Amino acid sequence: MSEPRTARAAYEALLKDLRETAVLASAGAVLAWDQETQLPPRGASLRADQLAALSGLVHERRTRPEVQEWLATAEADPDLRNDPDASANLREIRRDLDRALKLPGSLVREIAQTAALSQRAWRDAREASDFGSFAPWLEKSFDLARQKALCYRPDAPVYDTLLDEYEPDATAEPLVQIFSELRARLTPLIAEAAPRHARLSTPIDGLTIPVSKQMELIRFVAQRIGFDFEAGRLDVSTHPFCEAIGPGDTRLTTRFDEAHFLDALSSTMHEAGHGMYEQGLPKEAHFGEPLAESASLGIHESQSRLWENFVGRSAPFWSWALPEARRLLGSDLGGASVDDVVRAANRVKPGLVRVEADEVTYNLHVLLRFDLERALLSGDLPVRELPGAWNERMRQDLGLEVPDDRQGCLQDIHWSMGAIGYFPTYTLGNLYAAQFWSAANREVPSLQDAIARGEFAPLLDWLREKIHRHGRRFSAFELCQRATGEPLSVEAFFRYLEGKVAT
Ligand code: ZN
Repeated sequence: MSEPRTARAAYEALLKDLRETAVLASAGAVLAWDQETQLPPRGASLRADQLAALSGLVHERRTRPEVQEWLATAEADPDLRNDPDASANLREIRRDLDRALKLPGSLVREIAQTAALSQRAWRDAREASDFGSFAPWLEKSFDLARQKALCYRPDAPVYDTLLDEYEPDATAEPLVQIFSELRARLTPLIAEAAPRHARLSTPIDGLTIPVSKQMELIRFVAQRIGFDFEAGRLDVSTHPFCEAIGPGDTRLTTRFDEAHFLDALSSTMHEAGHGMYEQGLPKEAHFGEPLAESASLGIHESQSRLWENFVGRSAPFWSWALPEARRLLGSDLGGASVDDVVRAANRVKPGLVRVEADEVTYNLHVLLRFDLERALLSGDLPVRELPGAWNERMRQDLGLEVPDDRQGCLQDIHWSMGAIGYFPTYTLGNLYAAQFWSAANREVPSLQDAIARGEFAPLLDWLREKIHRHGRRFSAFELCQRATGEPLSVEAFFRYLEGKVAT
């Protein structure tokens, strides 16, 4: 009789400890946010030391012998195994602990320190478009990723192990299939649409809108679609991102281009999509537990792409947003109609930069990175040959010449942060988003009418119910199956894109 009580007590001790560790880790999230928004250049070295020290502490706490004992005691208890919350938590805590135990603390610290320093080096190299100065850091990032993967699973393909950290249970092989199907079906869509769209001009092309006015619009829209500013902020950074610090604190960033006000709006809706997912996770009750964490980065990205593209580039959205935009931007927007803005927001135009890519060309940018990072990891592509390989691929896939590495292989922050095996989650996010969007519209037929009235709660409620509240209770694949009734496929995405490009 005393055993279940002991197991319950062990489980409670485990959760309390996880929460305390999460509190410590959340201080690291503040430092990471500050690094991108506030930190002076000469503070970079201290920041790297701070982040390395914190990562080391968090890692030590997570792998203490008592944590292992509490977990083992809790796992042995049938009542806990039959409790849906506890069993999901225990399964995922086991997964995290087994991985963490395989990593030496020295490697954890070295990875964190290198990521911070290497980001600084990348920033400078990108500014100067000087790949040579960044190459040694890139070499080191890939080397550390390889070491980490071999610690986790010495016998598994290195790429699969890295991908698994961002997208649990995903492997490269099915992604190669998905990507090759995407490439086969996207290429003719681009060939058909791009020349037609290149001839299209709209009254908002070339309009200049001051940053302060744009700020009013994007804050208004972020709040209206459901981002809670009492539990979040919006700041400016070179690369927009969303930092989830903890319960009641989710931070977004954006960037502005006076000549393209749609850019800040779509990047803000994107990050707000991430932010609303974070705000919808049950953190008040379960902070530090897997139940309050996102299912995968692919699912995370589905939330951002859904708001950015499926909502933010749609005619119903603009029939509500256009009068608001005129009012807040203090401009009649050249007399543009809803149709004009929707056309401008959906132009298919091959470009050099992934984050500015339209929905049709976007996945080719991801595919390029997926192929190149696998070649860099395996050693088939030496780091010094990356710019040439990148530029060649841009020529082949999008018919573009890359004028400098700044707009080529130095454009993304990910590899400098050691985020290798991360890019495919962007494409998975697009596919999940399409499937969620189609299911939400099927289940809530009035969804788009509501959006046209500026009412976003029906969509957000559906996402909260089907996705957000579950945290890591289900794997990404299961979540998709449960939310949409179907396994993940490319079909919903193509139905959506082909419908859009045809008009
Ligand atoms: Zn994103």
